[in-house]
Amino acid sequence: MTQYVIEQLVRKIFRVTYRLAKTLVAAYGSHTLFVLEDLTNVTFNTEDLPKSLRNSHRSWSFFQLESFLTYKAQAIQSIVVKVNPAFTSQRCPKCGLVEKANRHHDTHEYWCAQCQYRCNDDRLGAMNIAMLGQDWLNCIKHPKIKKLTTIGWILIVKRVTVNYPVMLPL
Ligand SMILES: [Zn+2]
Repeated sequence: MTQYVIEQLVRKIFRVTYRLAKTLVAAYGSHTLFVLEDLTNVTFNTEDLPKSLRNSHRSWSFFQLESFLTYKAQAIQSIVVKVNPAFTSQRCPKCGLVEKANRHHDTHEYWCAQCQYRCNDDRLGAMNIAMLGQDWLNCIKHPKIKKLTTIGWILIVKRVTVNYPVMLPL
């Protein structure tokens, strides 16, 4: 890849991220909470990039988008919040189970082994990020998804089972 091609690629990423930030702000308007994953310490698969670009461009476009979006959002009294990305692609929004094996990369699908909830894996990530944004609005300073251990999960199921007959007379 020549220096010219690299510069063109960088300019194109710059234009696309700027347009995306502008479109998001225009679509959602003022007093909006934009929730992004905090990708500060996250590494990306850059095997499709030339070796010379793998380190320097690892997450550049994400930070560019965050920067543009923050700037544009502030201008219309909106906010950008970054949340912990851990387990956002593994948590079932219906039953709360966090399970890596539920995500099927080959078909871009999430399929919960416990409650059979199914949806596109990117959509699932967006739903979980939105949930963390809601946590932030509910005054949780650093919202994140906690993975329950198997023992923890069994305890919750047992508690629900035990409480259910008590609720029947209501
Ligand atoms: Zn589920």
